[in-house]
Formats: sequence, C-alpha cells, structure tokens
Amino acid sequence: MNNNLKRPYIKPSDAKAWSLCARRVWLDNKGDLELAPVEDAFEKLVIELGLEHEQHILADLRAGNEVHTATSPEDTRRLMAEGVDIIYQAQLLDESEGFVGYPDFLIRHENGEYQPADAKLALSADKKEIQVQLGFYRRMLGSTLPAITFLGDGTRDFIGDEANPITNQFISEMRSLLATDEEPLVRYSHSKCKACSYYSHCKPAFEAKEELSLLYGIQGRAADGLEAAGISTISELAAADPANLPDIPYLNGFENKQRAVFQAQSYFSGEVHQIAPVSLPDGQWVHFDIEDNPLTGTGEKHVYLWGFLVPDYGHDAFEYVWTDEANQDYEGWQAFLHQVENYRAKYPNLILAHYSAHERTTIRAYAKRYGMEDNDTVLYLLGDDSPLFDMQKPVLDSLVLPLQGYGLKDICKHKDLVNFQWEDDSSGSQWSVVQFNRFIAETDITKKSLLKSEILGYNRDDVMATRKLEEWLRKNYV
Ligand code: SF4
Repeated sequence: MNNNLKRPYIKPSDAKAWSLCARRVWLDNKGDLELAPVEDAFEKLVIELGLEHEQHILADLRAGNEVHTATSPEDTRRLMAEGVDIIYQAQLLDESEGFVGYPDFLIRHENGEYQPADAKLALSADKKEIQVQLGFYRRMLGSTLPAITFLGDGTRDFIGDEANPITNQFISEMRSLLATDEEPLVRYSHSKCKACSYYSHCKPAFEAKEELSLLYGIQGRAADGLEAAGISTISELAAADPANLPDIPYLNGFENKQRAVFQAQSYFSGEVHQIAPVSLPDGQWVHFDIEDNPLTGTGEKHVYLWGFLVPDYGHDAFEYVWTDEANQDYEGWQAFLHQVENYRAKYPNLILAHYSAHERTTIRAYAKRYGMEDNDTVLYLLGDDSPLFDMQKPVLDSLVLPLQGYGLKDICKHKDLVNFQWEDDSSGSQWSVVQFNRFIAETDITKKSLLKSEILGYNRDDVMATRKLEEWLRKNYV
C-alpha cells in the first residue's frame, strides 16, 4: 500500500480489467472476496505462449547488447544511471503519484533516454489496454520517445503521444475508483460477465434487482434510457405496452421495443415468442463448421479443421478436412475447396448450413490471403447464389428465446429448446484451440492420435448440433 494515499498503487496491468468493467478492476484492487481459482486452460496457454514469446525477444535483444535483469525499483534506477543497454524485467515506482509499473524491457536510446518495451502476443498495438500500459510507462519515465511493442507476428509497433489521452483517462478513473469503498454500480454484460471470475458474486445481485441488462439485446445505454422512461426492472418491462415506450438509444422502432418486451416476458415464463415466420432454404443440406487456431505466431489464423455433416446425418456421416500444422494451411484450403466441389456435384441444390458469420468471413479471408477472389469455387461460395446459409439469421429474425445469449450452445443445450448435449461437456472453441496446441506439441503418436479424435468428436458434435437445430426449427416454427 502507498502509505501517503492509503490506497493501492495504480498499475498498468489493471488496464485490461479497467477496459472491461469498472467493478472488476475495483474488486481486483479493493475486494476481499475469496473465490475458488478458475482453471482456464485457454488463458493458461496464452500465458505460456506469451512467456515463450518474451524469451525469444530477450534472446534477440541479447545479441550484441548488454542486458541486465532488474531485481527491484532501486536496482532499476541504478542500472538506468549506469546507462546499461537493456534492462530486463524493469521495476518502476513513483510513490508520490502512487504508480508502479513493470515493463518487460527498458531499451537505452542513443540520446540516453530509455524506451519502455513489452512483448505482446497481439498482432497490433491498437488495443486500449496496450495503449494504456505503454503510455503509462512513458509517463512514469517522462520519456519523449515512443514505446515499443514486440508483436506476436514478429513485427514491432510504436506508441507515442497519441496514447496520452487514454492513459490520462485510465489514471483519473482509477484514482476515483480506488478512492471509494463502495463497489461501483455497473450494468450486466453477458459476454463479459460470463467469462469473469466475479460472475458468481455479481450475478445473484443483478437477478435480485431484476437488472434490465440481464436481457438479451438490452445494453447499458438502452437500460439507462428505459430507466429514464420509468422502467427499472424486468417485471416492469414485461408489463409494458411496446407501442407506449419512447424511442431511446439502441431501442427504437416498434419491432425492437416489442422484442424487448417479449424478451422480458420470456425471462419469467421460459416461453418462445415467434415474431415472424422462419424461412429455411430448400435443398440438400450439408452442415458445416470450422475450427481455427489464432495462436500461430504468424499473424494469420490456421483453420486446422473444416468439418461437415452430410445426409443421412447419422454418426458416420461426418466428413472433414484436417491439417496438422500451420505450414500446411494452403493444402488444407485447397482440400476444402475440392470438398465443396465434390458436394456441389453430388448435391445439385447444395445448402452449406453453418451458425454465425464466422465461416463466411473465414472463407473470404482465405480467398484474400491466397489471392483467389476470382477462383470459381470461391465465387460460387461467396456469390449471389451462395450455398452458404447462416442459421443464426432466422433464429434472430424470427424468435425471441428465453436466453441471455443466442450462441449455438445456448440454444442447443437448453432442455426446453433443442436439447442437444455435446459428448464432452467441457468442450468449446477455446477448448479446441488448447487441444490442438497440445496436439502440435505432442510427440507420442498414440496420445497425438487421441487428441485428434477428441477434437474431431467436438467438431462432429457442432455440426450435429446445427442439424438438430434445423430439425427443431422445421418441427416447431416453419
Ligand atoms: S461479473 Fe460482470 S459486473 Fe461483475 S465484475 Fe465481472 S464483468 Fe464486472
């Protein structure tokens, strides 16, 4: 603790939590909750790869430079005074401001100033938290030189005075947050809260007060607007007449307001509201889902698995294209296009059904990566008569479901909706990335083959799930 200020030091490692949620950063610093540690294998993998990346940068910097590892803030100051080339694991402390910071490196410039530098797995330094972290080090050092980020794809990015406003905002908001002993009031955000270690602490309180942002589609500003219009709880919204609700930011037009009211009603009743007919294209459906590895260190994702479920959609109707390594990426892409041509020849009215925009976006990115935008199969896949069909669209357009998120798993796993369960309950897209990275590192052939079967099993369940969703929609809503 900083004895002068009687509050925790402000540190740049708080920037990530701060950028996500004010309460989260407050709880990190001032909370006294005893939470069971959350085992997040993906987070662990990212940390391991981050440390590996940092070691590579360190090895590169050692070539031709004198590198010293700092052991304390005093030691860092001494090494800077001595003018050593590079200080590794520097420790910066400013007691009067209440700041502490740990840049991976301080690199001495020819003008005698030190440039702070961090190794980051990210592919650009645009992220708010990176801007703040490096901006904060510059401020602590009083440096006029840009800070350096050694990015995950081997390139460098520089952060200069343009990061000062966001850094100053971070510092002033952190000062106010750390000055209060009250947990800050915030809105619920399904995507952020579900992944947060304080979920079990925050969620019951949101539910007890019937917080409006618990509802799918009601973001913070829409909840603010509803409160200003006299609607503060989910019960009040459920009882409202959508025609009498005023237009507010992110909730305007009758259809959106009606949706919001139905969503509030579903929250209590568990009922599905159909707001438009569900329209599914005719043809021979092949269900399609991809798995990709963002942690390649090249800056480009590697789709290691292009999976399909073909008629008759049984357990043995799963087909796929697989590649072991990122350096086989082009071969995998070519094999995928070839597979699409096989299906096109076999099923004249082919529908390639997937869930969310990810598959289409990825095909577009691959066509660009390999300069194949004019390739016949690519034109077929992305053109006006594309066989690709995003099943999330009819769900979002036509149904209001008793859910807080409209992901494939949210809908399929729900007992009163599709009720399809994955064989491995712990599996997910991040799980698949972790397993694939284990597969890459594994040298034992038997273990390697087991990991591959598990990943294939997960992908097969994903395409099975979209098939079950199709059946459920046809049976109930078409
Ligand atoms: S659960 Fe949500 S509201 Fe609570 S700290 Fe985490 S992100 Fe913030």
